[in-house]
Amino acid sequence: MIKYDVTMLINEEMQVYKNKESKKPIFELAASQEMGDSTNETLVTLNVHTGTHVDFPRHIYKDGKTSKDFDITTFIREVKVLDFTHLSSKIGVNNLKLHDIKENDFLLFKTRNSDIDAFIFDFVYLDKDAATYLADLKISGVGIDALGIEREQTGHPSHKALMAQGIFIIEGLRLKEVSEGTYKMIALPLKLDDVDALPLSVVLIKE
Ligand SMILES: [Zn+2]
Repeated sequence: MIKYDVTMLINEEMQVYKNKESKKPIFELAASQEMGDSTNETLVTLNVHTGTHVDFPRHIYKDGKTSKDFDITTFIREVKVLDFTHLSSKIGVNNLKLHDIKENDFLLFKTRNSDIDAFIFDFVYLDKDAATYLADLKISGVGIDALGIEREQTGHPSHKALMAQGIFIIEGLRLKEVSEGTYKMIALPLKLDDVDALPLSVVLIKE
């Protein structure tokens, strides 16, 4: 059995979307023995879309579903890693059609995004027609190794096509060490109530 940690490390130097200062996590001391406190405690200020996370519909729709009532065992399941490292720009319908994709599949897209830890402005993303194709197939979820499932598509059509079908979207995976194939995924979120995304720790297991 081989276990792969495919979670992004969270620190102040990590990549954040478009390198925006306002999206960077902040680590500060809330208590410090050096300063005379009896314990050491760290206060972390974290956007819920930091690093590896799952998006909920509220991210895109003002009245969309949030983490409220999300079953945290949802992401303990089989997943298929698809290798798209040969693509330079986006994952299209024709790229997906080369794979055997079935209803209820949970797909993780490995791309060149996993090669670099810095934010890539032209990261490989899921094209809107490809998202619609997956929605029509009624898959359960997708995961990508970028901080977004799409970029430069007005109105977030890939998010919307997937979310309309109740398909989960995991962003910010690190898949460099993982090759194409089927794995057991154990992805557990922080149990934060009523928010538009949840940070995840994700492990893939090859039996
Ligand atoms: Zn997000």
